[in-house]
Amino acid sequence: MELLNGKQTSLEIQEGLKNQVEKIVSEGKRAPHLAAVLVGDDGASKTYVGAKVKACERVGFNSTEVILPAETSQDELIKRIEELNQDDEVDGFIVQLPLPDHIDVEAITNAIKPSKDVDGFHLINVGKLMKGQPTFVAATPLGILELMKHYNIDTEGKNCVIVGRSDIVGTPLSVLMSRKKYPGNATVTLCHTRTNNLKEMTLQADILVGAVGSPNYISGDMVKEGAVVVDVGITRVPDETKKSGFRLVGDIEFEGASAKASYITPVPGGVGPMTIAALLLNTMHAYNRDFYP
Ligand code: NAP
Repeated sequence: MELLNGKQTSLEIQEGLKNQVEKIVSEGKRAPHLAAVLVGDDGASKTYVGAKVKACERVGFNSTEVILPAETSQDELIKRIEELNQDDEVDGFIVQLPLPDHIDVEAITNAIKPSKDVDGFHLINVGKLMKGQPTFVAATPLGILELMKHYNIDTEGKNCVIVGRSDIVGTPLSVLMSRKKYPGNATVTLCHTRTNNLKEMTLQADILVGAVGSPNYISGDMVKEGAVVVDVGITRVPDETKKSGFRLVGDIEFEGASAKASYITPVPGGVGPMTIAALLLNTMHAYNRDFYP
């Protein structure tokens, strides 16, 4: 079994971006700029935004955090988004999810200018993804593809079973893994709460992805011998032995699954850091105007 080391791979991608930024700046141009909007004070969201800002600093991107109170109205948030849309110094930005209940997530993601939508959530970018056109791919699925590329994981003709069909992870990943290119050309099964006999499905998986949000939900006996196992799940589980009071647990029971897997992502240190690397890659695309010249 080999670990799919997302932390290391992410740092290597960041090193490559850092070199590109140094070249850009040495030519007298400004560095790429990523902004992140955070509404409210959800602890996990603050941690994720903090990690994104830190990664920007590491590669030499400019970064801005826009922190708004939980009571911010939808109209106020859209006004702030419009300012970022207009700001020529900002190449791309994200609005960290989840948002408070009084805000319509769709209205917010679709208020972001598609050419700055580095999270790839805007309808236009989702549509482009469906059509196989160049676009911003949501950071977590993109990070998973980058990790597969890094380890030369063979995907062609493989059975890829994804558990979880969210808009931001499972569904876009299912589209990407079935595309006629590498990584892709897999035969994809997308599972969810209405799937019958989940274990029968997962046991067919040459590539198994857990994106459920339920700690250790997929046990070792649900994993096929030799499978490539990708665990997207991150749940904070109370743990008094930790300074933070919690530990992060994936969807896939690591000990049992790693005894069967050919490759497996750890949690933490697997998909999470790759998501950050992918967001930086998207920001570089936004800066270079690769998709929206
Ligand atoms: P989500 O929007 O809550 O979607 C969860 C999906 O799992 C749904 O499609 C749901 O099915 C399915 N599901 C839930 N319980 C199930 C069960 N018992 N059997 C089969 N399917 C089940 O979650 P998400 O946003 O995709 O996130 C999933 C996990 O990934 C979370 O732990 C999240 O924190 C983590 N995550 C990590 C990263 C990262 O960077 N590593 C990024 C994003 C998310 P239905 O559609 O039928 O309800």
